[in-house]
Amino acid sequence: MPWGSKLLSRPMSQSGKHAMVFNCFFCGGRFQFGPSLCDGKHIKRYKISVCSACWSSNWDGWSPRVEERLLAHLVTEELPVPERNEKGWLPRDGQAPNGTRG
Ligand SMILES: [Zn+2]
Repeated sequence: MPWGSKLLSRPMSQSGKHAMVFNCFFCGGRFQFGPSLCDGKHIKRYKISVCSACWSSNWDGWSPRVEERLLAHLVTEELPVPERNEKGWLPRDGQAPNGTRG
């Protein structure tokens, strides 16, 4: 049995040129996301996509201005609300701040 002959062809690499276009969860702006383009961010924990502007301007968490929208989304998706950071804001990537256990 010939090893490795099929390892080079990956099934998902057919149209790798096209970046996908997403709408930012917070500002609604469109951004591209692809193998070589990275104008935004996917936040798996929240199941949302945000543009790089919103991502980078909210490095310290999602402020009360936008959290209402996020909280409503979490309820809709039946996702748990993460522990808030020291400012009382929702952590940007949904991870608990500073990795404290428990
Ligand atoms: Zn945005």
